[in-house]
Amino acid sequence: MDITIIGGGVAGLALAHELAPDHDVIVLETSPGPRGGGYMIDFFGPGFIAAERMGVIEELRARGHAFEGVRYGTPDGQESGRIDVGPLVEAAGGRYFSILRPEVELGLLAVLPPSVDLRYSTRVVAIHDPALEDGAANPGATVARPPAQGPRSGPAAPRRAAVELADGTLLASDLIVACDGVRSVARELVAPGHGPIVPMGYRVASYLYEDPELAAELGERMLMTDTVGRVGWAYAADEARVGVMLAERVRAAGTQRPTPDRERLQREFAGLHPQVDRALAHAPEGFYDDLVAQAIAPQWSRGRVVLAGDAAHAPSLLAGQGTSVAIAGAEALARSLRATGPHLEAGLAEYERRWRPTAEKVQRSGRRSASYFTPSSPFQLRVQQIGRRAIGLPGVSRLVARSFIAA
Ligand SMILES: Cc1cc2nc3c(=O)[nH]c(=O)nc-3n(C[C@H](O)[C@H](O)[C@H](O)COP(=O)(O)OP(=O)(O)OC[C@H]3O[C@@H](n4cnc5c(N)ncnc54)[C@H](O)[C@@H]3O)c2cc1C
Repeated sequence: MDITIIGGGVAGLALAHELAPDHDVIVLETSPGPRGGGYMIDFFGPGFIAAERMGVIEELRARGHAFEGVRYGTPDGQESGRIDVGPLVEAAGGRYFSILRPEVELGLLAVLPPSVDLRYSTRVVAIHDPALEDGAANPGATVARPPAQGPRSGPAAPRRAAVELADGTLLASDLIVACDGVRSVARELVAPGHGPIVPMGYRVASYLYEDPELAAELGERMLMTDTVGRVGWAYAADEARVGVMLAERVRAAGTQRPTPDRERLQREFAGLHPQVDRALAHAPEGFYDDLVAQAIAPQWSRGRVVLAGDAAHAPSLLAGQGTSVAIAGAEALARSLRATGPHLEAGLAEYERRWRPTAEKVQRSGRRSASYFTPSSPFQLRVQQIGRRAIGLPGVSRLVARSFIAA
């Protein structure tokens, strides 16, 4: 089949890796190259197992890091608690490491089969599938047809679907997979009424910057601030760079992506901890800044268009498994298509049967953790501090770790 993947992020690259041996695969990515924006993720769970099956786990592990755990800090710079990562690694049977999100992309790129046609600086603006021609419900489904260009370009054959690029080109294919993230252009088309993100009441900013001195101070433990309403993380991404993540509670109503504003960030997050203050002083002009949100779609495919990764089932960073389930979901889609051969419809149904229960379980766990992410009051902070102390007790840490890994 000719398969077009929208989005060359983690899900798109993982899927291209798996489909390339059997299909002609094009990946269209709007950014000019691999996206550098970084934050440290914990890699475990279904994505780890999928990466093993894909034969890419060693490539990813080699780019990862093993932290000792988390150190909690109060605004006066004192340490208020610790959690070790050891019990988590043990509960995951050693299948657990930390890795910068961009390194996952680079790792997958390093093993991408050369037959994959990966096109950067290529933005998809609309999707056309003759099988879904009910323009009222799916405004993106009907597109103007500019002159044909390129080998797969041209007016879509009756039974093929097409993506329209920002320059007006139409690319026809047998299957379009939207791996274009939580704000997918395809979700409304596939699951009408479910296009918008589902905000969870938080906004998160993150960036990496050069600071070997602070990186050495932070060492092998991530710093997390013990604060109410706003929380900061700082960690040594490597010997030279510090990673920062800043989270705040916001009204859950809006869905619009916020505009990064360095001065606002420095003002709003000042005073959480001296090391976070230092990192804030170095905040770059441009950084990742978005609402924490899930994507909910009661169906993942329609006609010849299917959703994968965050576009289908973003669990939000509260679940701590977005990358893992993005890889695992992509691999589940590829396996389902492999299993059903030329029967596309059966392959897409098999994908949901195989993968939806796990994806929804991770999403539920993300929703459950939402209220604990950033304490809303001194009382809630106190409850969390007591809980943390309990985690330090023999036996309890193993139990908590097991339930976290199983979530
Ligand atoms: C601060 C933060 C911390 C996180 N921590 C963790 C963690 O600890 N563990 C974990 O597992 N996950 C974590 N995640 C989540 C994880 O990063 C995502 O769930 C994961 O990257 C999803 O991958 P994806 O490929 O589906 O989507 P994305 O990574 O969003 O990739 C989508 C790609 O599509 C491209 N694109 C979008 N629209 C178009 C278009 N119209 N045309 C062409 N290309 C397009 C984008 O440029 C992008 O490259 C975290 C996320 C954040 C923000």
